[in-house]
Amino acid sequence: MFKALVLKKQDDANASVSVEDLNISDLPEGDVLVKVSFSTLNYKDALAITSSSPIIKNYPMVPGIDFAGEVEESNNDSFKTGDKVILNGFGVGEKHWGGMAQKARVKGSWLVKLPEQISLKQAMAIGTAGYTAMLCVIALEKNGMHPEKGEVLVTGATGGVGSIAITLLNNLGYQVCASSGRSEYHDYIKSLGAQRIINRSELSEKGRPLGKEIWAGAIDSVGSHTLANICASTKYGGIIAACGLAQGFDFPATVMPFILRGVTLVGVDSVYHSIEGRTEAWKRLTDDLNFEHLEKMIKTITFRDVEQTARNMLENKTHGRIVLDVNSY
Ligand code: NDP
Repeated sequence: MFKALVLKKQDDANASVSVEDLNISDLPEGDVLVKVSFSTLNYKDALAITSSSPIIKNYPMVPGIDFAGEVEESNNDSFKTGDKVILNGFGVGEKHWGGMAQKARVKGSWLVKLPEQISLKQAMAIGTAGYTAMLCVIALEKNGMHPEKGEVLVTGATGGVGSIAITLLNNLGYQVCASSGRSEYHDYIKSLGAQRIINRSELSEKGRPLGKEIWAGAIDSVGSHTLANICASTKYGGIIAACGLAQGFDFPATVMPFILRGVTLVGVDSVYHSIEGRTEAWKRLTDDLNFEHLEKMIKTITFRDVEQTARNMLENKTHGRIVLDVNSY
């Protein structure tokens, strides 16, 4: 038997959340059984657990879009018992039982080996948010970004993606401008490496098709008017990596920044990103992340805290990274 958080459909709009004892035989198909050590609470998990958005494709569901743990049984040639592994995405925690459990059975083709330099807990402190932040940095670089081009904006600065994007960019030598709605976290944001902070209200309302050229690039986890305004204020030839929708999934922009300033907007998806791309991102995270900064971001919770913390996250009352220790409850 093992413990898992289980979501069960109540009606069209709601699901119940409970901690249950399950058998290994209850787990879905897969060729690798993992003893999970840590999962995390990502924005998408918060939407799923609170039934705020139709993230879950079938019930009952164990949520958790990521986990880190040790292989217990493997019928996959790439993994053997005792290997330490990370999972991010691939529909896990959405249509295949996820990481908020002490055991998970998944396809080996979804797993990445834990880099030797980091612990299972550090891997989940980074989690899907941090891995996505790294994918965004790589996307900027692949489109020609480098520190001499100028300041890079990071939105949703106190969040998981934003916090890790700031510290990564800072460590890589970039001047970082952070956008945040919470002045009480300015010291935290600065301690991660942002040189300048703007209030997110400067970006969140409908703006003009083109504005003053301010940023050489941006990592945006907010979407909506914020992303449109970033495009309008990006310098000639600038690059923006868009990965999130914390303000909204709409994108009320014009083509002007693209056709008059040659701005590049790159979409970043972590869920079905290639294994080669994931492996590169995790390698880069071990090399480029400031692990002292990572420590400042971590809050560790247990199963009992998940539901309330999910609500807090959607009300913008959490910051940094929320790590779920599935073995203490
Ligand atoms: P968090 O909840 O940790 O952070 C989101 C941050 O966005 C908040 O801390 C807040 O920062 C800001 N924010 C919240 N509400 C609003 C609002 N109404 N308007 C503007 N800003 C707001 O979430 P994550 O960092 O984990 O995820 C951020 C986004 O990225 C989510 O939309 C998530 O779904 C997406 N994402 C996408 C992935 C992909 O594969 N494309 C993978 C991972 C995440 P502050 O208070 O500092 O302003």
